[in-house]
Amino acid sequence: MTETPPEHADILIIGAGPVGMTLHLALAAGGQKSLLLDRRAPQAQQGDPRALALSHGARQLLEQINSWPSRAATPIETIHVSQKDGFGRTLIDHQEYALPALGYVVRYRDLAGALAARLASDAVLSEAEVLDVTPGDEHVTVSLRHAGQRRRIQTRLLVHAEGTPGDDPAVKVSDYDQHAVICEVTPTPGHNKRAWERFTPDGPLALLPLGDQFSIVFTLPPAKADAVMAMDDDTFIAALQAQFGQRLRFAKPGPRSRFPLALRLRDTLVDGREVWIGNTAQTLHPVSGQGFNLGIRDAWQLAEVLLRNGLDAGQLATYAASRRLDRRGSAFFTDQIVRSFSNDFGPLKLARGLGLLALDLFPPARHFVAKRMIWGARAWP
Ligand SMILES: Cc1cc2nc3c(=O)[nH]c(=O)nc-3n(C[C@H](O)[C@H](O)[C@H](O)COP(=O)(O)OP(=O)(O)OC[C@H]3O[C@@H](n4cnc5c(N)ncnc54)[C@H](O)[C@@H]3O)c2cc1C
Repeated sequence: MTETPPEHADILIIGAGPVGMTLHLALAAGGQKSLLLDRRAPQAQQGDPRALALSHGARQLLEQINSWPSRAATPIETIHVSQKDGFGRTLIDHQEYALPALGYVVRYRDLAGALAARLASDAVLSEAEVLDVTPGDEHVTVSLRHAGQRRRIQTRLLVHAEGTPGDDPAVKVSDYDQHAVICEVTPTPGHNKRAWERFTPDGPLALLPLGDQFSIVFTLPPAKADAVMAMDDDTFIAALQAQFGQRLRFAKPGPRSRFPLALRLRDTLVDGREVWIGNTAQTLHPVSGQGFNLGIRDAWQLAEVLLRNGLDAGQLATYAASRRLDRRGSAFFTDQIVRSFSNDFGPLKLARGLGLLALDLFPPARHFVAKRMIWGARAWP
């Protein structure tokens, strides 16, 4: 393998997923160059089966970097929250917030495609394998293999946006013992731009309007997820129907995929000239669709701090301090929902029913939950 002379980049971002690309484009909008690096080929993202619920706030940020995939986005006008075999339900309606929608549902591949379309041709080193990262006082050196060559890139700031981390002693992992089985189904009657969040003892079941279909996130203990993955289409629809109830009828299920679920929280976001953002900083349960909405706020805030204050390593601490409330609050919010709703314990079921009823009858509580979905941390007083 040939070795090329050392190269320089002011900012190197490892991971050209939606969060890494957002950071690159937000920096570019402020006149700051950065280089993206990804181990996959660009078209690999087109195979991602996820659909993401994006908040109104995320739409506004994406619009500022001309990356809002408007034609691929389905608005959510109402959200219906309930529990299986229990009383209490709440309905959140966009009209109460004077917004065109509470949020939007977009396929991961369409979001990634809209961001990638804004990148310059030399913005990303694709199919690059990081071999080594060496921290230093003045710069970080990243050694990598790319197109048959060994390259070394010295950078003033190294941003990690590699997505969900593997084993890493700096990351606390709390397993939910749940897997998400995802799939698209056709409802009758139509979805009417309504999203459903239904809590069951197995885990939350989410139905997100997407085009004419629902994108389903069916959360189950691992053994039940094995069974659901192995079912033929008719048996799968019957299982979904049993979990959801009979208010809508489902048909024509698309291919199924599964994701094991755990809360992964990185203790510290900064180490010298390195910083961690997006899923690599925090990976949350998909309930209430917070993950990318939080990651885009990471990217945006980091770009703002660096554009305002310059690339001094000390600015990373300013960034980390500014993200504490949002990331801890979002992790706590989703974690509490999953843990208090995913069981069949009688007294808790009663408390949950009363909670849902209270949300419905007590507008300030409902507004708090709705604003968390719409704006994230800005919901806090
Ligand atoms: C079932 C499910 C449903 C979800 N629903 C929602 C939702 O409704 N709303 C929401 O906001 N969020 C949702 N999420 C979370 C959302 O998918 C993530 O928060 C989001 O994809 C994180 O983006 P990211 O760019 O940080 O990471 P990723 O999307 O994982 O991208 C990481 C990139 O880094 C690259 N990479 C990884 N390792 C390396 C390496 N060593 N070297 C070079 N490149 C590397 C990868 O190839 C990839 O391109 C959901 C997640 C799941 C699993």
